[in-house]
Amino acid sequence: MIIHNCEGVGVTVENMTIYMDNSATTPVRKEVVEEMIPYLTENFGNPSSIYDLGKTSKHAVEKARKRVAYAIGAEENEIYFTSGGTESDNWAIKGIAFANRNKGKHIITSSIEHHAVLHACKWLEGQGFEVTYLPVDKYGMVSPEDLKNVIRDDTILISIMLANNEIGTIQPVDQIGKIARENRIYFHTDAVQAIGHVPIDVQKMNIDLLSLSGHKFQGPKGCGALYIRKGTKIEILLHGGAQERKRRAGTENVPAIAGLGKAIELAVGEIGESDKTLLEMRERLIKDLLKIPKTHLNGHPIKRLANNVNVTFEYIEGESLLLLLNAKGVFASTGSACNSSSLEPSHVLTACGVPHEIVHGSLRLSLGKMNTQEDVNTVLHQLDQKIIYPHYDFKHLTESILKSE
Ligand SMILES: *Cc1c(COP(=O)(O)O)cnc(C)c1O
Repeated sequence: MIIHNCEGVGVTVENMTIYMDNSATTPVRKEVVEEMIPYLTENFGNPSSIYDLGKTSKHAVEKARKRVAYAIGAEENEIYFTSGGTESDNWAIKGIAFANRNKGKHIITSSIEHHAVLHACKWLEGQGFEVTYLPVDKYGMVSPEDLKNVIRDDTILISIMLANNEIGTIQPVDQIGKIARENRIYFHTDAVQAIGHVPIDVQKMNIDLLSLSGHKFQGPKGCGALYIRKGTKIEILLHGGAQERKRRAGTENVPAIAGLGKAIELAVGEIGESDKTLLEMRERLIKDLLKIPKTHLNGHPIKRLANNVNVTFEYIEGESLLLLLNAKGVFASTGSACNSSSLEPSHVLTACGVPHEIVHGSLRLSLGKMNTQEDVNTVLHQLDQKIIYPHYDFKHLTESILKSE
């Protein structure tokens, strides 16, 4: 980033960065840090201890539980704190599978789930369960009709994410929940990316289990929660002490739980206003990036997270775009963070039918509350056609790999 000093001479400021990878993780916000500090310092008691120091910690955990419950329309005693989105997903899927295997061994999920869901399902297949992976359309959308068609008498669980972490597509969760309820099948949704963007009501949406993770909405890492509807038959995964009403053992991560509670209250409380700003930035990025020849938007044009931009550039390696941006202090991603060290094409883009010749040319910009219109200008400037396609003369490239719509 260039800053002009008083002589009007451009000075490069090396340490000024633009962070546009908020789907990978987010910075912990100031108010959240403040909420956490007492439990990292003087209020260090174990919530299970009966003296006052312990009770102070216990009180912090219960206050956070209230905040999480309120944020998703649940009751306090339906919220269980975990070590993050991965644990919540694993608990929901394995826990329902093992507690209900006498009823059936069939699970339905989608082909674009996070690996925490997909790999848990894959593992269950090795344990004698059968899993149907629903396809998605070119926008990454699951069809409720497809879902109806694959339900069997022995289906025990439907797990479909609320919003996708790579392409931002928001699934028709209301309809999916209704179908699950009508068929008396448990419905789990991975809402890790949706918290703070999509208003959630587990009652209205007929959700039985919901995963969330603190670090995706400006809370701390290594802390999440699983909502489990009252009366749900679920197996325990972590055996030990009596914490979390004897369903998830282990001394509570009190500072992180307190922080998560504050973070979800702020994130959900600000949905309307923050998404308005994010939407403006998202639309400007998408509009201008699609002006570059041979670019395609991934994900749904409207039913998508307000902070998600995912564009494929033909003839370009996504990794090289990341390096180009990194050199200018812009941090972004090619897909899910888990894929950044592997050369496997994104399973999400592949499921959406992005041809393998161009699947490696995708760039995900995920916006956050610290981003400004100025950041958008800088990023658009860095992704200028002349910079990323210096050697191509588009006049001679008439055939697009993907047919324009
Ligand atoms: C990040 C993420 C997870 C995993 O959450 P962690 O807290 O990092 O374990 C699960 N699902 C989705 C959709 C995610 O984006």
